[in-house]
Amino acid sequence: MGLDERGQEGAASAARREAAVRAAVRQQVVSARQPVVALLDVRRIRAAAGALRAAFAEVGGGAEILHAFAVKATPLVPVLRLLAAEGLGAEVASPGELALTRAAGVPAARTVLDSPAKTTAELREALAAGITVNVDSREELARLDALLEEAPSTSPVGLRINPQVGGGTIGALSTATATSKFGVALRDEGARAWLVEAYLRRPWLTRVHAHVGSQGCPLELMAAGVREVVELAEEVNRAHLAAGGQGRRIDTVDIGGGLPVNFASDDVAPTHRDYARLLAATVPALFDGRYGLVTEFGRSLLAKSGTILARVEYTKSAGGRRIAVTHAGAQVAVRTVFAPESWPLRVAVFDADGRPKHASPVAQDIAGPCCFAGDLAAVDRLLPRIEAGDHIALLDTGAYYFSHHYAYNTLPRPGVYGFAVHQQDVRFATVRPPQTVEELVAESGGGSHAGDLSALRRP
Ligand SMILES: *Cc1c(COP(=O)(O)O)cnc(C)c1O
Repeated sequence: MGLDERGQEGAASAARREAAVRAAVRQQVVSARQPVVALLDVRRIRAAAGALRAAFAEVGGGAEILHAFAVKATPLVPVLRLLAAEGLGAEVASPGELALTRAAGVPAARTVLDSPAKTTAELREALAAGITVNVDSREELARLDALLEEAPSTSPVGLRINPQVGGGTIGALSTATATSKFGVALRDEGARAWLVEAYLRRPWLTRVHAHVGSQGCPLELMAAGVREVVELAEEVNRAHLAAGGQGRRIDTVDIGGGLPVNFASDDVAPTHRDYARLLAATVPALFDGRYGLVTEFGRSLLAKSGTILARVEYTKSAGGRRIAVTHAGAQVAVRTVFAPESWPLRVAVFDADGRPKHASPVAQDIAGPCCFAGDLAAVDRLLPRIEAGDHIALLDTGAYYFSHHYAYNTLPRPGVYGFAVHQQDVRFATVRPPQTVEELVAESGGGSHAGDLSALRRP
């Protein structure tokens, strides 16, 4: 994608977003009764999946590729089904994510299980189903030895490596630091020799996995991490041949996800193509046809397809600061509220009819509905003057935002709606219905548990 193309794709999707906001107000998808909703641009999700596949197809030497969507980014069954129809698989890290994947119809053969804390029961189930398992630690590998002794499995099995190439600008999201909790640390004393031996002794251990990310990590750092694990694979395969083995012990490299997203404008930058090309230049061995490839992108596939749309309930002023009190706060944007420097979001302002406001900007806070002072989606932001009854939109929130609800103040999970725009016509489909008050009561120990504490007697 050239720079112009990036800009054009961004402009087209911004136009669709504006049409969707207007239609959401008109069709009462967002309303006084449902004052915050999330919108997903179906066309953009499809385009992102297609662009990912094309990017790697262009540099790949015919090797087998599985693009497994990282379910944690947007754990919504209709999204997983849409992506599956676009040729993607799924990367899961918990029984819940696996269940969503199954509900979406993603086959076991296109599912990858990662997690640093898999239980024996989870491992047994994955091995029985033929799901790919990436082992995270030496202890987990020992557990797998025992399980495979018990019952053979067709599951491909890999080992997650921490290449220890360093972190990015967001500590909490840097997976390849010297002391990261993930994977087997490659540069620790004796680790390389242990790893080569571990592979040579296990004919079923045929994959290597690394996920160097994510938001805030430069592409060069990510590519350096992949180079480290491919070098390890080459070393293992040489040792395998030297020991009289045939073919290759490691036949597939899982490069993880972690492509950062541009939250500052509608441009897609970097693109999957930028990363695929950098990988091809940095690690040519990955694309010479000897290795199968697995990717696990999340944020970069979904972030720019999502919009949180909320009504402005009131406005006020305090200490000279204008404040818009909206229905979108920490419950839908937890990272932005608690770590605003790392997770700034663009805010767009629409009037009561859902038309974009273009008035000259004034500094305002965008406050949410939660009862703590820091519940602000933006602070001192220059935006067209906001009035009660207007709408605000939090942009690029398709991954790790509304799908990652924070249940403060017993606020409900908002409804999520996919949209498709055709000329003047905008259609919506329910992705996730809004949570009801009855559901909130039930999951908060209501119903049959309501009297349990009062009935508990001292022994
Ligand atoms: C979170 C995660 C991903 C996806 O990361 P993104 O930054 O959303 O692309 C992929 N693989 C693993 C193992 C992860 O933990």
